[in-house]
Amino acid sequence: MKALVLRGHGDLTQLEISDQPQPEVRHDRDVLIRLEAAALNHLDLWTVRGLPGLSLSFPHIVGADGAGVVEEVGSAVESVEPGQRVMFNPGISCYRCEYCLAGEHSLCERYGLLGEHLPGTLAEYIVVPEQNLALVPTPPDGELSWAEAAAFSLVSLTAWRMLMRRAQVRAGERVLIWGIGGGVSSTALRLAKLAGAHVIVTSSSDRKLAWARELGADATLNHATQDVVSEVRTLTGKRGVDVVVENVGEETWDRSLRVLGRGGRLVTCGATTGARASLDVRRLFWHQWTIMGSTMGNREDYQQVVGLLAEGKLRPLVDSTFPLDDGVDAMRRLEQGEQMGKIVLEIP
Ligand code: ZN
Repeated sequence: MKALVLRGHGDLTQLEISDQPQPEVRHDRDVLIRLEAAALNHLDLWTVRGLPGLSLSFPHIVGADGAGVVEEVGSAVESVEPGQRVMFNPGISCYRCEYCLAGEHSLCERYGLLGEHLPGTLAEYIVVPEQNLALVPTPPDGELSWAEAAAFSLVSLTAWRMLMRRAQVRAGERVLIWGIGGGVSSTALRLAKLAGAHVIVTSSSDRKLAWARELGADATLNHATQDVVSEVRTLTGKRGVDVVVENVGEETWDRSLRVLGRGGRLVTCGATTGARASLDVRRLFWHQWTIMGSTMGNREDYQQVVGLLAEGKLRPLVDSTFPLDDGVDAMRRLEQGEQMGKIVLEIP
């Protein structure tokens, strides 16, 4: 089968289209999917560059998100059958360890992500456990395209768990979201608005801030030209925000804490600018802050967020589509960071 593979860690020149063996149904709950589209995530760039502790065997197929048609199912599969349109949670769990048995699949001892630890979705076929699948729903405003279905899972699941399961954002709360161009941040904005929160977002691009206002942002700040801390203090009558949504890390951490109000929660799922952060413990206990980590989501989280998609509340935002053969160009667009919404590869 055709796939976009990484020959070794480095830059985008390490990627190429090549012929790879087609994956097979090996376990009784495996499902073989013929992929129709696959979406890119910032994570794919980290996989290309190489992450500490990540050892891959090359050539490695990249890509975490995808959607397609069920081609073949294992002997114990009951929830899907060949011919159905499916999408999937890209976090693969063992479904046997104590965390999995407690329903916390993203804490699994053998947790791995498609395209990061396991062969990915930029290919004609993939095998995914039945437990990770969802049928592609049809929202009231019309059937989802393959590109929309492929674009949905990773960012929606990540943002939903951060805001709803972990930070538990409530109506009327003030929420700050850094870097609104990214898929997780823009989905976090939409979820916070669905929850009835007052949302402040930042970006270094005025074009992306205008887009965020269309998505419902109540206030926007250009973090390259404005002082986010003093602006947030002004916008919140000096009390600060109830929730900060972080995935930037070192560059924003201090400011995230300076805008966090009494009893505030900071939730993070990433550290794109560096992983070292400091904390004055006295401010932590005196202001009774909660700092929480979040990554991906469990099976129940995925069902919840697919439910919102089915209700027409979270239709994916697609920036652009490329044919699989132009996968390197698509990755270059991702690297340049100009996109608003998801970059999707269509697989003929
Ligand atoms: Zn497990």
